[in-house]
Amino acid sequence: MDALATNWHDRAARLDIRTKAFIDGRYVDAASGKTFEDVSPRDGKVLARVAECDAEDVDRAVASARKAFESGVWRDQHPRDRKRVLLKLAQLIEQNADELALLETLDMGKPIRDSRSIDIPLSARCMQYYGEAIDKLYDEVGPSGPNSMSLILREPLGVIAAVVPWNFPLMMAVWKLAPALATGNSVVLKPAEQSPLTAIRLAELAVEAGLPPGVLNVLPGFGETAGQALGRHMDVDMIAFTGSTEVGKYFMRYSGESNLKRVSLECGGKTPHIVMPDAADLDLAAKNAAGGIFFNQGEVCNAGSRLLVHESIKDEFLAKVVEYGKSWTPGDPLDWNSRTGAMVDDRQHGRVLSYIEKGKAEGAVLKSGGNAARTETGGFYIEPTVFDGVDSGMTIAREEIFGPVLSTLTFRTTEEAFRIANDTIYGLAAAIWTKDLSVAMKAAKTIKAGSVWINCFDAGDITTPFGGFKQSGFGRDKSLHALDKYTDLKSVWIEL
Ligand code: NAD
Repeated sequence: MDALATNWHDRAARLDIRTKAFIDGRYVDAASGKTFEDVSPRDGKVLARVAECDAEDVDRAVASARKAFESGVWRDQHPRDRKRVLLKLAQLIEQNADELALLETLDMGKPIRDSRSIDIPLSARCMQYYGEAIDKLYDEVGPSGPNSMSLILREPLGVIAAVVPWNFPLMMAVWKLAPALATGNSVVLKPAEQSPLTAIRLAELAVEAGLPPGVLNVLPGFGETAGQALGRHMDVDMIAFTGSTEVGKYFMRYSGESNLKRVSLECGGKTPHIVMPDAADLDLAAKNAAGGIFFNQGEVCNAGSRLLVHESIKDEFLAKVVEYGKSWTPGDPLDWNSRTGAMVDDRQHGRVLSYIEKGKAEGAVLKSGGNAARTETGGFYIEPTVFDGVDSGMTIAREEIFGPVLSTLTFRTTEEAFRIANDTIYGLAAAIWTKDLSVAMKAAKTIKAGSVWINCFDAGDITTPFGGFKQSGFGRDKSLHALDKYTDLKSVWIEL
């Protein structure tokens, strides 16, 4: 048997959970002394009481980050030395993967198998990637002619505030932290109030790896208080945000009303998943259509929530999707065999169920699921849900549900498929299944989305940029392109 398959319940019972804020290299209480309840969606029970940071803590953390930045204790280290620290941190994430995976699963409800084999290893790999990159980057010399010389230099911005969501808590944080730290910035990280535990633990690992005090601070707390205080802070140079489009817009406003800090936004999505009748393997496509919406309880920004199927194959195809969907029925998140866990909290649970009701009320046809599940546990579970007969005007085709709810639409022509695909305010991702290369490439060119997957779904790795078009945001995470947003260009002109 897989060595990782057992003992998670025992280990969960023995977990030592860190609950404080991390400022200036050490754990501290919130200045107000306040704490909030961190509820595990697995059973609805309080897992821990966590420091509730607000504006005063934001001031303390930003001051510490600023002091560290201006002192040069991190930014002026040789890139080789910064690399050593980030590689060590990547190694510590790997060495503590069981503990981090457990924290993630208990905190936000995803299956332990996903935390342990996806979230935590990919977080370590991301840290490693940027650590390895940083001593291989060159600045530029401009084509300035024989009597002068121009240098185009990249400089770190200063204090970066990273505000992140709860669906991949550690991974979303590391997507920001790794390139920001690699380029010499200081960071204040605010995890989502639903899932602060791995970020809090990461801060300690960063210090163990050799990151100087103040370079990484972690402030658990709520969006309207700690998040807003970061967004409006006059001494924060940039906000790196992942979360909803609604809150992304707040950050634009905070910036405009304060110091015009840079803002990068990774926001919501409503990914079209297109299936053409000539797809080489309809079984594989159906398996991906189910996985594309039900993975991570549907709490994925690029979830394939709109299934667009050619009308000639729709009934046959949808029957397969419903069948594959059954394997995503929720189970105990601590059971290694569960593929689906709990929705992150009571509120999200209720929100998704209300979208299901709205779908029914607006005339969509419920093919499977539609109900809360495992209610006897006290946790927040929902059955994998498939709707047929959806049209582009329905709420469940337009709004991001962020749950295990698939909306199926049909089309007759390729042009119609692309038109429906683009009929959304979002532009995060799209996918198409077809054997026809020119249709596939037309989709890639026509659909307004940051990622387009052809004959696959949610594929890619740390080397490919990820981010949105339209109201899915701007700026890219992952790949060397992510380094751009944490640096500014400085031009130096020298007369010879
Ligand atoms: P959210 O926008 O509610 O919260 C995200 C973060 O913003 C949290 O840390 C929260 O505390 C903070 N926040 C909330 N209100 C705030 C306010 N008024 N001022 C300042 N900060 C505030 O999003 P969520 O519910 O945590 O996450 C789900 C959303 O994240 C979905 O829309 C999803 O598509 C998006 N997401 C996008 C990506 C991407 O890469 N594009 C990845 C993951 C999640």
